Amino acid sequence: QERIPANFLEQIVEEDITSGKNGGRVHTRFPPEPNGYLHIGHAKSICLNFGLADKFGGKTNLRFDDTNPVTEDTEYVESIKADVRWLGFDWENELYASDYFDQLYELAVQLIKKGLAYVDDQTSEQIATQKGNPNIPGEESPYRYRSVEENLDLFERMKNGEFEDGAKVLRAKVDMAHPNMHMRDPLMYRIKKAKHHRTGDKWCIYPMYDFAHGQSDSIEKITHSICTLEFDVHRPLYDWFIEKLDTFPSHQYEFARLNLTHTVMSKRRLLQLVKENIVSGWDDPRMPTISGLRRRGFTPASIRNFCDKIGVAKRDNLIDVGVLEFCVREDLNKIATRVMAVLDPVKLVITNYPEGQVETLKVENNPEDINSGHRDVPFSREVYIEREDFMEVPPKKFFRLGPGLMVRLKGAYIVKCEDFVKDEFGNITEIHCTYIPESRSGSDTSGIHVKGTIHWVSAQHAVPAEVRVYDRLLILEDASQVGDDFKKFINPDSLTILDHVLVEPSLKEAVLGKNYQFIRKGYYCLDKDSTGDKLVFNRTVGLKDAWAK
Ligand code: ATP
Ligand code: MG
Ligand code: MG
Repeated sequence: QERIPANFLEQIVEEDITSGKNGGRVHTRFPPEPNGYLHIGHAKSICLNFGLADKFGGKTNLRFDDTNPVTEDTEYVESIKADVRWLGFDWENELYASDYFDQLYELAVQLIKKGLAYVDDQTSEQIATQKGNPNIPGEESPYRYRSVEENLDLFERMKNGEFEDGAKVLRAKVDMAHPNMHMRDPLMYRIKKAKHHRTGDKWCIYPMYDFAHGQSDSIEKITHSICTLEFDVHRPLYDWFIEKLDTFPSHQYEFARLNLTHTVMSKRRLLQLVKENIVSGWDDPRMPTISGLRRRGFTPASIRNFCDKIGVAKRDNLIDVGVLEFCVREDLNKIATRVMAVLDPVKLVITNYPEGQVETLKVENNPEDINSGHRDVPFSREVYIEREDFMEVPPKKFFRLGPGLMVRLKGAYIVKCEDFVKDEFGNITEIHCTYIPESRSGSDTSGIHVKGTIHWVSAQHAVPAEVRVYDRLLILEDASQVGDDFKKFINPDSLTILDHVLVEPSLKEAVLGKNYQFIRKGYYCLDKDSTGDKLVFNRTVGLKDAWAK
């Protein structure tokens, strides 16, 4: 395999391999906390971690960073595994930080024995106040110089459940005057009498992120520990634990997190949308979650291509959601089966077509894929067409229907509009046409040339369906500007339901996970809410970018 670095992380890995660091080994990990469903930002991290290992002949662990029992759940663990697999990746080992609780405890004891950790009886507020601010040295805790024996005893009793939540913490003894606030005697353990989704009631003390995450990397002998930019200030502490404990020297590298326009990305905020029923669930097709995108009709390839296309940045940036939509359009154009669906139907009667006659037409499934074959589409005297494809007073160059105008019905015949019927409110209720019998697609001998082709469905064969059209979740472009106020910017039109849609009968056979192009309309997929009685489709994306300026 060719190893031409495509970004700065690949460059680092390439150099490490060349210099023989870690014996030329590459081992990455994807470390989700199972406290929510994965989103497109996680997909970026997944593609990066698994991609690096793939490219450089290494391995990737899937490690659940499950050190906070209160917010974590096995439902999330299962969804995370399903999403990573769906994206097309397979992990070397399925691991849990909670499996290391014994080892982490032992490492903490070692630090205490070295005089590098102590039990503090102060409240978290007192501790925070003493840390002060970066411009002046912090204040040392009155418990900072406890003897090793006393610390060992207290820490063991913390573990044994002798103290209440918050009564004591274990802190690393680093430097209360350090310019980096994360180095001012950070917390290593806290008491939390909560049931853990895997270890149950075995533990009532839980390790903090900086200690647990870095040391989990070392336990797994991870060579390149990749995380997002906001953790660069944690790196000195990451390195401090490794140095003081003399554990495997994993290295942390940071890249810019992915932010998308018109949405929020953090699990905490996505959970709010779910809990407050602003969306129907984690897999609501408007959500930037992997499960939401999947339900919406995005393909794994389109998401992987997107992650590739946006590159790996060193500075925070905001990616236009239009780039993601471009990627899915590009993929679906290649693979989606073309079908006909009329979203806003009006009846068209072909007055010179024999009553009761039905023809079966062969229509190509996908002109982009020569192997995709043809399907049968029934044609009869009465069809439905899109209301917008008829105009009573058409402007010049309207290559669709209007009084006296001719158009081709896709895969069928050329028709000419002879007349139309209106109701008492002035709405068109019926269009009357004649057809040219010699103009059948594939065997057209009529010699007539028309500029427009429109889609249609046979009235007696059409199947009713509901179509859900999605728009941006937030009216606001950059949600980072508004923080927790993001809910004030929910787009009231983010979901439109079309419930008079008529689709061609082949779609009775539509299956979940398959993509369709409703020709001239966009890309759609069957929704899980579909039943035998009622077909429900989601619009993945329109054919063109409606938001393009
Ligand atoms: P959130 O704030 O959404 O909960 P998180 O970073 O707390 O995100 P984790 O489950 O801890 O979520 O993340 C697992 C991995 O995914 C981490 O390595 C994290 O850096 C990465 N990650 C999370 N969000 C993004 C993002 N928006 N862009 C790139 N990587 C991300
Ligand atoms: Mg995290
Ligand atoms: Mg988080």
